[in-house]
Amino acid sequence: MPQLRQDLITGRWVAVATERAKRPDSFTQAPRDAVAAKDICPFCPGNEKMTPPEVLAYREPGSAPNGPGWWLRVVPNLYAAFRLEPDGQTAHDGVFEQRDAIGACEVLISSPDHRATTPLLPRHQVEEIVQSYLDRYHAHQRNPALEYVLILYNHGRPAGASLEHPHSQLYAVGVVPPAFQEELAGAQRHLAQGSGCVFCRIITEERRAGARIIMENEAFLVFAPYAARTPFETWIIPKRHAASFGDLGGREKAPLAEALQRTLKAFRTGLNDPPFNYFIHSAPLKARVDDAYHWHLEIIPKLSIAAGFEMGAGMWINVVKPEDAASFLRQQITVEDRAAV
Ligand SMILES: [Zn+2]
Ligand SMILES: [Zn+2]
Ligand SMILES: [Zn+2]
Repeated sequence: MPQLRQDLITGRWVAVATERAKRPDSFTQAPRDAVAAKDICPFCPGNEKMTPPEVLAYREPGSAPNGPGWWLRVVPNLYAAFRLEPDGQTAHDGVFEQRDAIGACEVLISSPDHRATTPLLPRHQVEEIVQSYLDRYHAHQRNPALEYVLILYNHGRPAGASLEHPHSQLYAVGVVPPAFQEELAGAQRHLAQGSGCVFCRIITEERRAGARIIMENEAFLVFAPYAARTPFETWIIPKRHAASFGDLGGREKAPLAEALQRTLKAFRTGLNDPPFNYFIHSAPLKARVDDAYHWHLEIIPKLSIAAGFEMGAGMWINVVKPEDAASFLRQQITVEDRAAV
């Protein structure tokens, strides 16, 4: 019998269609040609002049800005959907309202290596990526014109990556995104009912149940949510209660880099490098939601295409049970652990 599962945070229902259930390994991607190094890649060292001037770079001492010598580089997005202007205007057009799209769009180039996706980088470089997220988050956090900072990563063309060179993106915007608002409203409802942080409750429950856990380290839990929207939806959440990603502690950076890299490596080996998006959900910059909200990173692989039902109903059909997806990814990590011994 197909199941409806309810997401505890948002109250959203997801159909888990066990009757068309597929085995997790049926999502393994067909082999593809290796990524070709492009001779004109704006993110490769030597081509720095092709991007707007950098806003942050970790580089060799003595190397000049906007030239080679960096190991991580952040630049404004050339095709920005939002712009930082001193004061935004609101206008009316009949019954309709429009506002200037105030904000910043940045590209965080993972490393100088055109081919090295996160699973292939040395661990210390993944820690540098985490550090760059934090540095840019802090840079925008205090801007009074901004309400929200969204950090995300697109991998593979079907997931929206238009340039092959691995990079993350940051959107600092003057609105609180709707998808996030739904989650925050749910979290605030739980707090008002006296049941505390719903994310902390989920962490406790997932650790008790065990079936949806993919991996765990001293600071982070990686699991498949009970009402996962898509096959292999995966969350990485800090075990310590914290509303804002901006409050990531010094001792949490390495465990976050470990959890992220090992999870993405499990996707890569188990499913043959599928397209995916991940994004960090963090508290809005101005709202006081320290008790209600709990930041996390959501990874959504693009293994099925949202169709009319999803668009029309705003409701997802997931053809893989989250327990089966978690077990499959957990095995990949176990195999990797054995190989490392
Ligand atoms: Zn490149
Ligand atoms: Zn919490
Ligand atoms: Zn979320």
